[in-house]
Amino acid sequence: MTRYAILAVMKNKIAFVFIAFCLALTSYGASLEIIKIGHPTLRAKAEEINFADIQSPEFQKLIDDMLTTMSEAGGVGLAAPQVNKSLRLFVMKSSWPNVPLTIVINPKVEYLEEFGKKSSTEGCLSIPGKSLKINRFKKIHISYFDRKGEYISKELDGFGAIIAQHEYDHLNGILIVDLVEQMFSQINFTGHANAPLM
Ligand SMILES: [Zn+2]
Repeated sequence: MTRYAILAVMKNKIAFVFIAFCLALTSYGASLEIIKIGHPTLRAKAEEINFADIQSPEFQKLIDDMLTTMSEAGGVGLAAPQVNKSLRLFVMKSSWPNVPLTIVINPKVEYLEEFGKKSSTEGCLSIPGKSLKINRFKKIHISYFDRKGEYISKELDGFGAIIAQHEYDHLNGILIVDLVEQMFSQINFTGHANAPLM
């Protein structure tokens, strides 16, 4: 191949990758507005989703839109109240530490106190610019329905357990600033710009 032929092939490859990238961006859903602390929806107890509604196109679209919103905001978790939908739904995904894409509907959480607690730095997409040291249970048991309406029951530990506890709090109107107030002696405004956002 001549140098020009190689260049032409490379150009085609770059165009192909670019188109694939654009398709990947548009294949989920729309980006939604993330509401901020002070908005009343963040303080409400979110409502259970009717099982029959899980398969509805509207609800499935909300899930896709939340995945897009979380990804575009650079978050590792997002709860429906954060996009002004007072529903018991959250999504989570992190590449490092790895937490698989998980869609959680109507969760029940049991805190496994015997494994103790651990503190880590958390940010919240609804509280821009604040990173707080928060104590969470190391291990929880969670049961919920996934987006197909299948019942899941499992234990979570590590980063997945932290995100799930943060998002579960959102469903009950609890924000990380409340947890800091409850544990005043452990307040620490760490100022980490790269704390995980949830
Ligand atoms: Zn949050």
